[in-house]
Amino acid sequence: MADGPDRDAPRAYDRRVTFPPSTLDWYGCATFRLRTAGLDIMLDAYVDRAENAAGPTPPVTADDIEACDYVIIGHAHFDHLFGAERVMANTGATLIGSYETVRVMERAGVDVDRMIPVAGGERIDLEGPTGRVTVTVFPSQHSCVWVGPMEQPHEVCIGDLGVTLHEQQERMKQLMSQLGTTLDPVAMTHMLDAMSGHSERGDGGALLFLFDLPDGRLLYQDTSGHWSGVLRDLRPDVAILAAAGRGNIDGEPIQGSLAQFVARQADMLRPRRVILSHHDDWLPGFSVPTDTSSIAEEMRRVAPGVELREIGYLDGTPIFGDPQ
Ligand SMILES: [Zn+2]
Repeated sequence: MADGPDRDAPRAYDRRVTFPPSTLDWYGCATFRLRTAGLDIMLDAYVDRAENAAGPTPPVTADDIEACDYVIIGHAHFDHLFGAERVMANTGATLIGSYETVRVMERAGVDVDRMIPVAGGERIDLEGPTGRVTVTVFPSQHSCVWVGPMEQPHEVCIGDLGVTLHEQQERMKQLMSQLGTTLDPVAMTHMLDAMSGHSERGDGGALLFLFDLPDGRLLYQDTSGHWSGVLRDLRPDVAILAAAGRGNIDGEPIQGSLAQFVARQADMLRPRRVILSHHDDWLPGFSVPTDTSSIAEEMRRVAPGVELREIGYLDGTPIFGDPQ
C-alpha cells in the first residue's frame, strides 16, 4: 500500500473530542469571545452600545470583561476597536491588530510591548495552556461603506465602479453629515463618544484571521469584504462572516446583493458552517435590523452543503458541534 495522506481520514470536526469544545459568545456587532484551550480571546472589542441599540440583556460594557488573554482586532473603526483600551487596562491581554489599531491603542495608553502589529502573512502561536492554538493573519478589504447607508441583504445594488479614493472620501463626508439627521440623538451621542480618537484615519486596513484550534479551524471576518485570491484558498471548518453594508470584492462593490456576497464567500470557502456577524441593529439610524432570510435562501442555492447559523447573545455556542 502506498504511503501518503489518507484522503478518507475524518476532518478535524469529526474526531472524537476529549477536551472542552471551543465556544463563542457573541456581544453583538462583530464582537465575540472565543474560549479555546484554556484561553479567553476577544475577537474585536466593541462591547458598549447606545441605549437604543440591539445587544445583550442586561447590557454589558468593556469594563465587564475581567479575563482576557488576547484581543484580536479586524480593523480600527470604532465599532470594532472602542473599548479595547479598557479590556487591555483591566486584564493582562496581548493585542493583535493592524498598525493603525496599534497606533490608536498606544495613544489611548496601552503599552506597545503588549501589542503585536500585523499586516497579513503572520502566523502566531497563542500558547494555549491546554492545547495548541495558532492564528494566521491575512490581508482583507472593508465593506464599501462610502456607497451609503446600510440596506437589507436582498436589495440588489449595481454601479459605483471605479470610484477613486478621494471621491470615496468625499462621499464619506456627505454620509457623515446625513447621519446628523437620521441618527437618534442617543445613538449620535454614543457614536461621537466612541469615535473620538478611534476612527478619524479610517479602517487602517481590514484583516482576516484563520485560527487553528484543537477541535477545528475557524475563520474570523469582521467586515463584508475580501481579496478573492486570498479567500478562495482558505479552508476553515467554520467561518464567521460579516453581513453588513455593500460587499467589497477586490476593491470594488459587489454588483448584486449582500445576500449574494455572503453566499459567494460560503461557496469559495466551503466550510461546514457559517456563523453570521455584524447583522444586528448595532447603531439604529445607520444600521438596520437585518432580515437574514435572503442570505439563507441564497446560501441554499449557491452553497447547499453549508449550514447557516445565527447565534444568540452570550450563549456560549460550541463552534464545531453538530447542528442543534
Ligand atoms: Zn468598519
